[in-house]
Parts: sequence; structure tokens; C-alpha cells
Amino acid sequence: MARAESERGKGSFTKGGKVKFYFRKEVSPIGFTHYYRRPKEIPRDDMLKIIRDFKKMVPLLSELKVYLAGGNGEGEAEINIERIWFNGPEKCGHLKNEAISIPWPTDTAGGIAGFTEDAQKGNWFAGALIDKRCCDGDCSYETFHFPRVFKIREWDKPDEKGLYFDFCKTAFRPYDLAVNVFLIIAKHYLKDNIKVSSDGKMTHWQEGMMLCQVHLGYGLEFKLKD
Ligand SMILES: [Zn+2]
Repeated sequence: MARAESERGKGSFTKGGKVKFYFRKEVSPIGFTHYYRRPKEIPRDDMLKIIRDFKKMVPLLSELKVYLAGGNGEGEAEINIERIWFNGPEKCGHLKNEAISIPWPTDTAGGIAGFTEDAQKGNWFAGALIDKRCCDGDCSYETFHFPRVFKIREWDKPDEKGLYFDFCKTAFRPYDLAVNVFLIIAKHYLKDNIKVSSDGKMTHWQEGMMLCQVHLGYGLEFKLKD
């Protein structure tokens, strides 16, 4: 319960009055992150289109070895009209590799590593430089949580367009590609109502853009906010 009550925990009441918590898994304060500004409430029609397209992409992502679990790294991802809540699987079966500590992608990094030894290409000041998405033996990192109705916390302040800041630190784990794909889809339907920025460069987003273009018919027009 302490974890749910922490700054980064999110919870909501179910109809029966039972508290159902949607944790945001806590991770290192530094690391490779995607950021976005979003409206307080996403119209149901838009949310339906977003989840319809994202659900189409989930099996394609798993063919690329991007597997999704629930937001805490266990169980099933939630993809429904009220929320998208996922992470990589904690018990992913990859070998433990302590060298992959606070990883950061090289400028040309992409793809998914078959095994982590394959991915390390040196170090940046805080950890490992990697040229493929990989894990340290645990494919989960920070929860990706995109509720239809954003729960405003007391420290949240909207920007001049009324958009609220949120982010997901993926550490370039394999599910990073699923976060890219989701945000490309959301951007397609929400247009100027979502602003996406990233520690990654456009090169890191190319695969997600291509995947969406091939399977959904859009994506190559995606641009990060400067
Ligand atoms: Zn893994």
C-alpha cells in the first residue's frame, strides 16, 4: 500500500468501492524517457480509434519479440477505452546482465536484441550504451499508463493549451517500441492535442513509424515536438 500512496502511484475506485491501484513502477530517476502533453479527457470516439489501432499492433509487436505485460510487469496488459496500462514482462526469460545498468541508446540504435550481450556498445556517463533494445534480465521498467481521463495531481499544471505533462521512462527496454507505436497512434488521432517529445532522436522512432505506416496506413508523418 505504501507504494500505491507514493508520489508516482496512481489509483482509482472501482464501481464496487474497492480501491484498484494502477501502479507506476518506480525506477531510477535518470534514464531514457519519452514525454508527452495530453488533454485532461480524451473523447471516447478518439480513444476507441486509438485502442482499436493499438490492439492491431500488439500481435505484430510480439512477432518482433516485444511482449507486453501489465503495468507492474506481471499479468496482462490492459488496453480498453478507459486506459492503456502496460510494461515489459518482468519474468522475460532473458539472462541477467548487470552491465545493462541505466542504458542509453546509441544515435543509430534500433531493433530488439536477441540476447543482451549482443547489445552493449560501450558506456555513457551513467551506464551502458546499447545499440538494440534490450534488458538486464527484467524487461519491465516504468509503467506506461495512458488513462482516458487524466487524474490531475496537485502538482500538475496544464500548459497554455490545457495539456498535462506525462512521461514514460523505458530505458530502451524492448517495450520502448510499443510505447513509440502507441504515441504515434495517439498523435495521429489527437493531432495538436498531444505533443510528444523524447530523449530519443527521430532515428529511434523510425521503426515505430514504419510499423504503423505498413500496418495502419499512417505514421511516417509523425514528428517529435522540438
Ligand atoms: Zn528481458
